[in-house]
Amino acid sequence: MTSISNRLQDILATIQSAKLVAHRTHPVNLLAVSKAQSTSAIREAYVAGQKLFGENYLQEALDKQSQLADLAIEWHFIGPIQSNKTQLIAQHFDWVHSVDRLKVAQRLNDARPNTLAPLQVCIQVNISNEESKSGVTQQELETLAKAISLMPQLKLRGLMAIPEPSTDNNKQRLQFKQVRECYDALLAKGFSLDTLSIGMSDDYPIAIEEGATIVRIGSALFGARQ
Ligand SMILES: *Cc1c(COP(=O)(O)O)cnc(C)c1O
Repeated sequence: MTSISNRLQDILATIQSAKLVAHRTHPVNLLAVSKAQSTSAIREAYVAGQKLFGENYLQEALDKQSQLADLAIEWHFIGPIQSNKTQLIAQHFDWVHSVDRLKVAQRLNDARPNTLAPLQVCIQVNISNEESKSGVTQQELETLAKAISLMPQLKLRGLMAIPEPSTDNNKQRLQFKQVRECYDALLAKGFSLDTLSIGMSDDYPIAIEEGATIVRIGSALFGARQ
């Protein structure tokens, strides 16, 4: 039986080799996606050295945070955001990857306590993913990025995307390239960004080759979700 610790080491090694293949020198961070995983699994990963964890569902995340309050975890919210959940998200997370509309950004900004560092945010972009209703279109992206840049309690770090799953590596690569092009276009317009949150268990080496700086990995680390 493979332990979480062994799988963590394998994933970190795969990240390193993908960086080498693509001659990428910037850091690539592993975000452990712990939705539907137990707090004991999270503890096991933490003890093995993992510090960044991502959750999709607010109530589940809050329950786990209170049970894991003794650990110095950096918590990332990566799920769809209903506007009535923004206050608790702004109070209990370090990062939010899934900001996809002005109203949500404004509410997160307004609810972020002054006593905490600004909330680190990514805008979720919808790359030709017909099934997912989440994410801004490429046309809406710059307007939202400008608005967030002016919000004092938010720090815009970059973009996140969940491309349509595909077993065709070339198709997957093309989708990552599109996100990368949106990111480069914002950089060219003067936004200072350093985060491209793309790549999951089945495709993270390709995402790294296309410029990912955060890969969000669940099942490859923890095993299948319950
Ligand atoms: C569940 C989830 C992941 C992780 O998926 P795996 O395929 O288990 O690695 C990554 N990102 C988001 C937004 C998710 O909801």
